[in-house]
Amino acid sequence: MDALYIIKHNKIRKFILAGNSYFTVMNVITDNKLTFHVIRPKEKSPWFIWATNKKGKYCFLGTIFQRDSGLEYRFGWKKGRFTKDSIINKSFEYLWRKMLSNSLPANIVFYHEGKCGRCSKRLTDPKSITRGFGPHCFSILTKRWKATQV
Ligand SMILES: [Zn+2]
Repeated sequence: MDALYIIKHNKIRKFILAGNSYFTVMNVITDNKLTFHVIRPKEKSPWFIWATNKKGKYCFLGTIFQRDSGLEYRFGWKKGRFTKDSIINKSFEYLWRKMLSNSLPANIVFYHEGKCGRCSKRLTDPKSITRGFGPHCFSILTKRWKATQV
C-alpha cells in the first residue's frame, strides 16, 4: 500500500476539488476507512466522485455541482453502482456537509497518497507532499483560488 499523508481539515476542500485527487478518509475511533477519487475533467465542469467498493475497485458514486447556493453533492448521476442508502454514500454526504460547514470532528482524518491533487502525479519533495500539490499545479491553483475560491 502507498504511504498516506494527512491533509489538514482546513485544506480538504481545496485538495478534493483540485481536479484529479485521490484521498482516504479514516475514522480513527472506529478504524473505518473509505477511499475516493474526484475528477474534474475540465475547468467549470462538475466534479465526478468515484469510491472504492469492497474489492478495492473504483465505482462511480456521485457528482458535485457548483450552484449559486454553493457546492452541492448529488448521488449517482449515472452509472451509479452504489445505492443511495449505502454506507459509502451516506458517509460522503456526511463528510461533505461537515466539510462545508467547517465542522469535521477531530476523529475524521483525511489522507492523500503522495500524489498531486490536481494532476495525480507522484510528489517527490517534502514541501509538495505536505501541501499535496506539485509546484506547477500549485501555482495554477493559487491563481484559480484567488479568482473563484475553488
Ligand atoms: Zn500536479
